[in-house]
Amino acid sequence: MKPIIQVKDVYYKYTNQQDELTAALDGVSLSIHEGEFVAIIGHNGSGKSTLAKHFNALLQPASGDVYVKGMNTKDEEQVWSIRQVAGMVFQNPDNQLVATIVEEDVAFGPENLGLPPGEIRLRVDRALESVRMSDFAQSAPHYLSGGQKQRIAIAGVIAMRPEIIILDEPTAMLDPSGRKEVMDTVHYLNKNEGITIVHITHFMEEAIQADRVVVMEEGKIILDGPPREVFRQVETLKQIGLDVPQVVELAFDLNREGFSIPGDPINIEEMVNILCR
Ligand code: ADP
Repeated sequence: MKPIIQVKDVYYKYTNQQDELTAALDGVSLSIHEGEFVAIIGHNGSGKSTLAKHFNALLQPASGDVYVKGMNTKDEEQVWSIRQVAGMVFQNPDNQLVATIVEEDVAFGPENLGLPPGEIRLRVDRALESVRMSDFAQSAPHYLSGGQKQRIAIAGVIAMRPEIIILDEPTAMLDPSGRKEVMDTVHYLNKNEGITIVHITHFMEEAIQADRVVVMEEGKIILDGPPREVFRQVETLKQIGLDVPQVVELAFDLNREGFSIPGDPINIEEMVNILCR
């Protein structure tokens, strides 16, 4: 697998009102490969959003480098191409929808690319199909549910034909059914359209569905691996104040009480299989 995002020893600081500097990224190195589904977790202020904004050149490193498909995000001439390769979806769907009709909203990006009308039509239709929102093409976004609005925001990104979608807590403002809709959509895009996904979340049950989990703390990456390996580090995660998935917590408690739960189960199905054996 080829790396599609490469982060090399990146430092970043924000200047606050007193002109003091807070280190938001403190020596981060990371490679994300084509087709991967990566979850980034960590508590508030650990640097997740700051890192995500480096992936599509919304921020540039103070030192170190970020490459997206080989393009350095510091290279101003490449910023436009980088943003086409790597699209971003944010927490609040209301802030991302700009038009009064769904299909006009999805067309907004391709129109800005100056594409011919036939190509725009094609992209909008395909993007709405990918998020299963074709029936709502003529609807007004503000009549949709939170999950549906977020799927429209994702369609707007897909219409730009990105290779990577970075989602910064896309489900934080949604109810459980909206969260599921959005997660199903994102997994569909990863599996069926090969889009690389970077998903920032504070829901551990979402993180276990990723191929890989990256844990951030105080601007550094402290754990990085498949969900089962990362969530095996229950004590480290608790020390930094993070939750673990319910099943992991249950296995941890049972093991502590003297039971022996083999295989580090991370979801209910695995736990049920182990307990029934
Ligand atoms: P997370 O996404 O994990 O919650 P952030 O990347 O938003 O973390 O924040 C990392 C650090 O940078 C925190 O200390 C936060 O207070 C600080 N920070 C984030 N955005 C700004 C900003 N616009 N101005 C000043 N400090 C900021």
